[in-house]
Amino acid sequence: MSAVPYLYKAPTRKPKSEQALVSVIIPFLNEMDVLAACHERVCRALDELGQHCEIIYIDDGSTDLSWRLVKTFRHTIHQVQCLRLSRNFGKEAATSAGLKASTAQCAILLDADLQDPPECIKDMVQAWREGAQVVEMQRKARHGENFLKRFSAHLFYKLMSKMSDQPITENVGDFRLLDQKVVAVINGLPERTRFMKGLLAWPGFKRTILQFDRDPRLAGTTKWNYPKLIHLALEGITSFSTKPLRWATMAGIFTSLSAFIMALVILTKTLIWGDPVTGYPSTMLMILFLGGIQLLSIGVLGEYVGRLFIESKQRPLYVLMEESLNRPTFAHQEL
Ligand code: UDP
Ligand code: MG
Repeated sequence: MSAVPYLYKAPTRKPKSEQALVSVIIPFLNEMDVLAACHERVCRALDELGQHCEIIYIDDGSTDLSWRLVKTFRHTIHQVQCLRLSRNFGKEAATSAGLKASTAQCAILLDADLQDPPECIKDMVQAWREGAQVVEMQRKARHGENFLKRFSAHLFYKLMSKMSDQPITENVGDFRLLDQKVVAVINGLPERTRFMKGLLAWPGFKRTILQFDRDPRLAGTTKWNYPKLIHLALEGITSFSTKPLRWATMAGIFTSLSAFIMALVILTKTLIWGDPVTGYPSTMLMILFLGGIQLLSIGVLGEYVGRLFIESKQRPLYVLMEESLNRPTFAHQEL
């Protein structure tokens, strides 16, 4: 039993010969329409590897029959582990729970809705066998997504790569393979605001990028909406960069300088030509402009103070409610 009962106890590593080859980590929320198809396609893809693997499902607080369904999944040579969180903690927390539970030589993060085709697993494992420690899967095309989503995603990646000190590859989502060394590093990162794209990029290691066609969702609806995406973007920016604070300072310096220059111009005009000081409109403009900059800077500051507040509470990332382990029905030695 772990000291903190609600947290998943990181499993101890087995010798390589007994260790599963791949952990496929699948977080889901209300996906009962796709889970059976997902399990079948993942198993088929893993069968092609010819070695025993593990599949880890994480129920992120589903309210439909997903949990009951997923608990029945089993396989002849692969182990199926299911974790159930006590409520919806968000995909990032669910993925973190999966990474903590992973015991294999490498881990693959996959969406349950089959937008990330499990058939790519073979190529990902091949790239890993050739020496890559992180295999990033880059989307060639974003089928089933409208122009606005594609455009905002592009804007987000551009903004992130300008802001973050860590390069974040464009159009690479969570679908990727991580060597167990990288998984260990990510499991050791203590922060509570888990911006996965940034966290997964942070450890570095040897990277390869493979391209794939992202399919439309098999069934059900996306769990994302624009307010959630804006929240994610803000979280990403403020948890991985302090550049907005720098920009707020720059804006302050710039406005002070322009006010000083303007004061000089007005003074000269009044002294030389005796112009009366003009302008209600210009005064209003300056007040609004400065007010805007000040509010923006306070808002930026507030974002960082808020992050500090959340981090300082040291609450767990997720709470585990239930676990189920379906061992392979066929002994490994007989493989
Ligand atoms: N998901 C989750 N918790 C959440 C939201 C989503 O575990 O709070 C899962 C969801 O079930 C799916 C994956 O994360 O397996 C990706 O979500 P979705 O397909 O809704 O996102 P999109 O592909 O539209 O970006
Ligand atoms: Mg999806």
